[in-house]
Amino acid sequence: MRSARAEIALAPDVRRVREDFPALRQTVHGHPLVYLDNAATTQKPQAVLDALMSFYTRDCANVHRGVHLLSERSTAAYEGARETVRRFLNAADTREIVFTRGATESINLVAQTYGRANLRAGDEILISGLEHHSNIVPWQMLAAEKGASLRVAPIDDRGDIVLEEYEKLLGPRTVMVALSHVSNALGTINPVRRMIEMAHRVGAVALIDGAQAVPHLKVDVRNLDCDFYAFSGHKVFGPTGIGALYGKARLLEAMPPWQGGGDMIRSVTFEKTTFNDPPYKFEAGTPHIAGAIGLGAAIDYVTGIGLEQIGVWERELLAYGAQELARVPGVRLIGTAREKAAVLSFVLEGVHAHDIATILDRQGIAIRAGHHCAQPVMERFGVAATSRASFAFYNTRLEIDALVEGLGQVKEIFE
Ligand code: PMP
Repeated sequence: MRSARAEIALAPDVRRVREDFPALRQTVHGHPLVYLDNAATTQKPQAVLDALMSFYTRDCANVHRGVHLLSERSTAAYEGARETVRRFLNAADTREIVFTRGATESINLVAQTYGRANLRAGDEILISGLEHHSNIVPWQMLAAEKGASLRVAPIDDRGDIVLEEYEKLLGPRTVMVALSHVSNALGTINPVRRMIEMAHRVGAVALIDGAQAVPHLKVDVRNLDCDFYAFSGHKVFGPTGIGALYGKARLLEAMPPWQGGGDMIRSVTFEKTTFNDPPYKFEAGTPHIAGAIGLGAAIDYVTGIGLEQIGVWERELLAYGAQELARVPGVRLIGTAREKAAVLSFVLEGVHAHDIATILDRQGIAIRAGHHCAQPVMERFGVAATSRASFAFYNTRLEIDALVEGLGQVKEIFE
């Protein structure tokens, strides 16, 4: 174990890092912006903005089709971004990386292709009680269509999945397991490697929703041995409207396509169409070329800082934030899992989460209030909504102090 002091020495130079993010320099309602809503979306470094600008001012052309120079440049940049995502996830091959609109589309793609092709009436899909709606609803829709059923592994009072119950729910009927790597509502880091291994023991295929994991943890899809891994670019400092799906090559090859259109075909006649190979089979139409390039730039930026260093700093922020919030009378933390990413969900006695967020906004502090697209999690903890502060590596202890001070003012208003 490294000592706490040695760990901190490894942390990124936050003051320098903040200079890379133009959005962080603004004031909101006359106060310096304190942006603590990173689980919803992250701010973008200049390197990402430059990559988008450079594409649109220099290289803008469609991909894969043109023989002219601009098209060659745009194709090279787009496919280069795919290689960047492959390296980021440690996938074996770029054929395993499909660009999508984000985690939601990646999950729907798997439900509508792998799921539709492989589920029969009576089969089971197993998820957990921690899931975001985007890892619930696509499976519910599929289950309804196929006459399959959705099973849910429960969570305990800390916000950890009860592994014994999860294991009991796995069985010969389980065809698909879909689990979040990190919970957006509570920050719980799930032991997905172990859970995937258990799913494989009963012959199920495992999809991991990594939307909240990739900004915080080093992900290695080969080490996890997941069958599918979904994430969104905008949560990892990249543009909105772009994300990726990792799928094992042999599964992607066997899966039917999803949407039909240009680029996903090899040949088309009115009688018959033959489909392209993965990943193109799943990328019908002109893709979000600029978005993919921006995502590549974001990943280069994040890996340039280093996910280990990011983890060190975020653990520090989480510990400090939890300690300081606990000092505010009436605050109750929701989600105290053994392993957590930098998310603090809480309720304040007597004050609705939306009122907290509105009052804090007047002080320039951006947090989230609501059910966080995870209504079953709220129900499990018996609350309608929580306030959620979620951190990125550019956040500081001073910003946490501002949050705590802001909560003091909330209390004064309501007392
Ligand atoms: N899964 C989790 C755990 C999330 O936090 C989110 C976004 N809040 C999603 C999936 C969906 O991501 P997107 O809206 O970018 O598709």
